[in-house]
Amino acid sequence: MYEGVVQDLIDELGRLPGVGPKGAQRIAFHLLTADPEDITRLADALVQIKEKVRFCDTCGNVAEAEQCRICLDPRRDPALICVVEQSQDVAAVERTREFRGRYHVLGGAINPIGGVGPDDLRVRELVTRLADGAVTEVIIATDPNLEGEATATYLARMLSAFEGVRVSRLASGLPVGGDLEYADEVTLGRAFEGRRLLSGGAPATGG
Ligand SMILES: [Zn+2]
Repeated sequence: MYEGVVQDLIDELGRLPGVGPKGAQRIAFHLLTADPEDITRLADALVQIKEKVRFCDTCGNVAEAEQCRICLDPRRDPALICVVEQSQDVAAVERTREFRGRYHVLGGAINPIGGVGPDDLRVRELVTRLADGAVTEVIIATDPNLEGEATATYLARMLSAFEGVRVSRLASGLPVGGDLEYADEVTLGRAFEGRRLLSGGAPATGG
C-alpha cells in the first residue's frame, strides 16, 4: 500500500495485539508527524524493555533484577501467595490494596484446545515455593472464564496434597467470562474479601 519503511512500520504495528490494519495506519501517520524527541523516547523504551526487563526468578512477574520488587519487599507477607495468570493481573490486584502477600504468575491458563497444559505453566515453580512450609494460604486468582476455572480446579486438586496450606478461590461476583485484568478495583477487592476455601481447613481471615 505504501512505500518502503512506512509500510514496514504499518506492518510491524499491525502485528501488535489489539491493533488492526486501520489502527496501524493511524499510529504510523501519527508517528510520521510527531516530534523527533518523542520518537526517540519511544524507540528507547522499546529497546530497553528487551535489554532490562526480565521475569522474577521466584514469582514470574516482570522485574528488572533476579527478583521483582514485590518479592524483595520485606513488608509483604511470605505466608500468602496469590496465583494469577499474567503480570497484568498482579497490577490489577495491587490496585485493590486488599492483598499484602506475594504472587505467583503462571504465564497463562490451562487450555486443552490451545494445547496449553500444566507443564506449560509455572506450576512446578509454585510447588517448589511450598516446599519449606512457610506458605499457609494460596489464593487462586485466575480469570473467571473456562480456562481460568479449569486451572483453578487443577491447582486446588494438586495443592490439597500439601498439609497446612489453605487453598482459596476469589469469590464470584467477577464478570463471568471476563479478564481479571479489566475488573474494577471495588469488585476485585470484594472478590478477595469473600474468597472461598477449596481445601485445607478453616477459612482465612483478612489477607
Ligand atoms: Zn517476584
